[in-house]
Amino acid sequence: MSIEDLARENVRNLTPYQSARRLGGKGDVWLNANEFPTAVPFGLTQQTLNRYPECQPKAVIDNYARYAGVKPEQVLVSRGADEGIELLIRAFCEPGKDAILFCPPTYGMYSVSAETFGVEYRTVQAKEGWQLDLPAIAEKLDGVKLVYVCSPNNPTGQIINPQDMRDLLEMTRGKALVVADEAYIEFCPQATLVNWLEEYPHLVVLRTLSKAFALAGLRCGFTLASDDVIALLMKVIAPYPLSTPVADIAAQALSPDGIVAMRQRVTQIIDERQYLISQLRDIPCVEQVFDSETNYILVRITASSAVFKSLWDQGIILRDQNRQPTLSGCLRITIGTRAESQRVIDALRAENV
Ligand SMILES: *Cc1c(COP(=O)(O)O)cnc(C)c1O
Repeated sequence: MSIEDLARENVRNLTPYQSARRLGGKGDVWLNANEFPTAVPFGLTQQTLNRYPECQPKAVIDNYARYAGVKPEQVLVSRGADEGIELLIRAFCEPGKDAILFCPPTYGMYSVSAETFGVEYRTVQAKEGWQLDLPAIAEKLDGVKLVYVCSPNNPTGQIINPQDMRDLLEMTRGKALVVADEAYIEFCPQATLVNWLEEYPHLVVLRTLSKAFALAGLRCGFTLASDDVIALLMKVIAPYPLSTPVADIAAQALSPDGIVAMRQRVTQIIDERQYLISQLRDIPCVEQVFDSETNYILVRITASSAVFKSLWDQGIILRDQNRQPTLSGCLRITIGTRAESQRVIDALRAENV
């Protein structure tokens, strides 16, 4: 038997997540991973690297609970929100029996995590304006344990209608968890569902420090839920999911000063988004710029694959969304610095259509 043959069948068949980093490119303008464009400096205050870290570092949990307005018992910290996506599948889905459901076009990790664990995933395509098709979801709920809803949605940028989320929560009560992926919620904080946790014990909210907190390289995310859900996830999480330096920096980022600085970054990005949108709307090869509540915008472009490649060759790396359902001709552009916006604008203006 070859090594390949020894692997689980679903792993042999798995296409790994095509992360922005994995896709490569030799650019100097990186607008493909929804990162914050500049680095925020931090120093380490903990020098106890001879000791194992706390599983759930108290300062990080307490600071996040205060920031999110929940009890510390309702917070789990993990190696990015991606690990939260995975822990939920591990804790709630029986391989070969249970399923997860999500609504494309959306974030790619839900399917990859399900496939890795041999858990079925079902999709219900989003309808007009990329909102939830509730009747179609209702029809497919049999055996579903987790419904992932990204809001605001990556890569389309819009918030899911709150009334639809309520209907979904009513429909799933006693049957499945609804996981609201709020990776970009800092750019539209009024849209959070965190205040619904009281009312819906089967609601789960995912958060991250990778976007508005400018700490994608730190790998730190949060799951907010009822105490019962958190207690179950605590059973399946690794004993030491966060290293001491990560916990140290995360606690600093979530201090009152850290939160103020994050909100200033959000203001900066929203101003820059406005500028970029206004400029793109005047460019001939740009057919449509979709509204966004996030730090990226989705743009429909004439001959998008050729334009994507042309910008790539000029060192401007965007994210091609062409193959997602309903997104033909669409590229996703992360909001960067003014200089980066200008590079994109000038390059797109120079494209002949
Ligand atoms: C970036 C992103 C994540 C992953 O966040 P990490 O904390 O970096 O793992 C999760 N969900 C969505 C929708 C994202 O865009």
